[in-house]
Parts: sequence; structure tokens; C-alpha cells
Amino acid sequence: MGRVCRVHEAPFLVNSRTASRNAPAGPSPFAVEAKALPREKFSDPALTAKGEPRASVPLVGLDTLWLNTGTLCNLACATCYIESSPTNDALIYLGAKDARRFLAEAEQARVREIGFTGGEPFMNPAMIPMLEDSLARGFEVLVLTNAMRPMRRREAALLALREEHGARLTMRVSLDHHSKAVHEAERGPRSWEPAMEGLQWLSRYDFSVAVAGRLLPGEGENDARECYARLFKDEGIGIDAFDPARLVLFPEMDADKDIAEITTACWSILGKSPKDIMCASSRMVVHRKGEAAPRVVACTLIPHDPGFDMGATLAEAAGDVALNHPHCARFCVLGGASCSA
Ligand code: SF4
Ligand code: SF4
Repeated sequence: MGRVCRVHEAPFLVNSRTASRNAPAGPSPFAVEAKALPREKFSDPALTAKGEPRASVPLVGLDTLWLNTGTLCNLACATCYIESSPTNDALIYLGAKDARRFLAEAEQARVREIGFTGGEPFMNPAMIPMLEDSLARGFEVLVLTNAMRPMRRREAALLALREEHGARLTMRVSLDHHSKAVHEAERGPRSWEPAMEGLQWLSRYDFSVAVAGRLLPGEGENDARECYARLFKDEGIGIDAFDPARLVLFPEMDADKDIAEITTACWSILGKSPKDIMCASSRMVVHRKGEAAPRVVACTLIPHDPGFDMGATLAEAAGDVALNHPHCARFCVLGGASCSA
């Protein structure tokens, strides 16, 4: 008998963040089950709450520069880490002129890849010019999108870019789960079919395409990959669900839930190297509302915390990053492991 792919039934209520008609049900199916984070944790960049030296990550080499296109999104997912919605413009649209300045600096720094994330990047009116600029400069480009209406409105421009640059442009589509019920419990009603249609369009026209998904609490990665593989086969989507670069499955994140702090001793206890952590090789440009110009932050996950604002230029942003945020522990270092001796 074949594997039974899990679904999760959830009522579709109203999201407190927005009254958007796309708002999802109350609790996210991906909610982290843990007690509240004690206030004394993640409060000192040098020391943990127990007084131990906090771990930090040096910039080994800038490989990926992320451009945050702005927080506005056509969706308002229950646990969007950046709290995007149709009304949240805490990060305003990045302008093509500002992007050009950072792309020029990235060329000097021999950056390999430019990543675009939001919000929904295709909400930004300068998205196509920024893509053209990035590809014309020879970068590899990765776009994180929900593949819904904002992307579909740019089909002609995207086809032209694919024609000219081929697989240097990769579109990574968020499909939170292999079941419609869980995906819509997180992303809102009527969010499944448009995402599937967007994915099918990208696949049909031979884009380099990937999917970003998530695991339910207790759901095994292999089981999830098998279920995604069945979905992709049934829906005619040309993605190898067993290739971790084509189907990326993320652990859960919740900045309000308790998690161990990361000390300098954790690296050897876990057998991990700071060089493997995302902020050893990437930075993100954000333009906060009320600020005259974009700034560079440590990574895609922490756009607002002033402790992770690294400077006004890539050169200024080359310093070490103190792992002083719950996301550093839960998402990047522990990923479900424990570094308690
Ligand atoms: S589609 Fe992405 S950016 Fe938009 S609300 Fe959902 S998780 Fe956030
Ligand atoms: S969450 Fe923390 S550890 Fe992870 S990339 Fe960002 S700054 Fe680095």
C-alpha cells in the first residue's frame, strides 16, 4: 500500500494581522510547541543569560546578496517571519537605483548570487528592471515567490528573461505543504490552486524552478518528500522532490518560544562550523520605512532588529554577527538538535 500523505483540517477564521480576505485560519499548523522565551535570554550580544560567551559568525566570503523588495504581499500567512501582508510596508519597495548601487558593490566583492525576497517580490514595480540588471551583470539569480497573481502579471517579461539567461534565473516557489488543507491553513483560503497553477506555468515553460516547503511537527522529511513527489507527478510539475536543492524543507521558527542560547562551546558539541551558517556567506539589503536609504542586515531572517543592522554598504557590513536572536538558535544552529552538554 502506498504512503498516506497527512493532511490537517483547520477552520478558516480571521487572522489578527489583517482583515484581508486571503487571511488564514487561527493557529498555524506549523506552530512551535514550547513555553515562552524567558526575557533574560538573547539580551546581551557578548554573553548568554547564564554568563557564557555567546557564539558569533564571521563573514567568510559574501556568496549571496539578498535584496528585500519590500514587505507588502498579496498574502498574510499565519507565521510569516517578516509579518508581510497586503498592508504592511515596514520595509518599503526597494528602488532600482538603490539596487544598482548594491549590485555594483556586489560585483566588486565577487558575489556569486543575487536573491530576491519580500513580501512578494513581484508586488514591487521595479522588480523586472532589478532582475534585468542582476542578470545582465552575470549574477545567478534566485527569486522567492508565491507564484500567484503578482508573478503571473509579469509572464511576458519573465519568459524574455528565461529566453536570454536560461537557468541563471531560478524561481523558488513557496508551497508550505504537499496537502492543500495544511497549505491553506497557513496561507489562507483560495491560496492553493493559484500557487499550483503558477508552478505548472513555470514548469511548462522550462524555468529553473524549486519549491520551499515546511514540515509539520513530527512529520519525517522522507515521508514529506515522498508526498511532494507524488503531488509533483500528479500535477505535471517537473521537480525532483528528493533533490534537496529543488525541494527545500525548512524547520519551524518562533521568536517568542523558548530555545537554548548558542555559546562558543556549542560548535564542538554539535560538530558544526560557524562557516556553515547562512550569515557566514550572505547579507540582505532592506529599505525601512522612514529611513533615507537602504541598509545591510546580517541575514534574511532578522530585518528589523537594530542589533543585526550591519551598515550602509556591503563593506561596512563585513563584521562578525553575534548569534543574539532566537532564530539563530532554532533555525540556523540547532535545527531540532540540542547543544546542552
Ligand atoms: S507569501 Fe511569503 S512573504 Fe507573503 S505572507 Fe506568506 S510567507 Fe510572508
Ligand atoms: S538567524 Fe542568526 S545565525 Fe541565522 S543567519 Fe541570521 S544572524 Fe546568522
